[in-house]
Amino acid sequence: MQLLVATRNRHKLAEIMRIFKHDKLDLIAADDLAGLPADVEEDADTFEGNALKKARVLCDASGLWTMADDSGLEVDALNGAPGVYSARYAGQDCDCHANNLKLLSELKGTTNRTARFRCAIALCATDGREWLVNGACEGRITTAARGQNGFGYDPLFVPDGYVQSFAELDAGIKNKISHRAHALRLAAKEWKMLFI
Ligand code: IMP
Repeated sequence: MQLLVATRNRHKLAEIMRIFKHDKLDLIAADDLAGLPADVEEDADTFEGNALKKARVLCDASGLWTMADDSGLEVDALNGAPGVYSARYAGQDCDCHANNLKLLSELKGTTNRTARFRCAIALCATDGREWLVNGACEGRITTAARGQNGFGYDPLFVPDGYVQSFAELDAGIKNKISHRAHALRLAAKEWKMLFI
């Protein structure tokens, strides 16, 4: 069975492909299928809403069962910001570096640095059925960027139980403990029966 993975982020795609391997599944990346909408506007106010919207739009456009995720960082001292605005925290066309600088500046002098990454994954079937799972990874925000691996806020996030940031940790460790790993493992378990 073919399953479209609705992401154009190659870091996420690699993580998803690795964790969601399944005998009966032929995983297809959005970039490998012509004629799909270039981007789906993420205008919902929850990760779940955005993941469902992306999966439904690309499922309808492709005629394939489609899995989509939405994820981001919630910082307690900022009342959950940047949240669903994680990708564009420093402005509409900003990059990860600008987002990281803004986060460090917003937290300057703040001792409460607890935070979590969240991930919602939606699955849409061609007959209109929909499923949703969630994952989270608790941690804290550093006072300066550290490490070269990963993407996004990885240089600023130290997961609970570790002293290194996500960007300092080996990808194999991140792929075991990340918000996406938790959500994908749950998805693989809960949705296994659907793919037989
Ligand atoms: P989206 O799920 O592609 O909309 O991602 C939202 C944003 O959240 C990304 O652009 C990153 O800034 C951030 N993000 C999501 N997952 C991660 C992660 O695993 N590491 C670092 N940043 C992440």
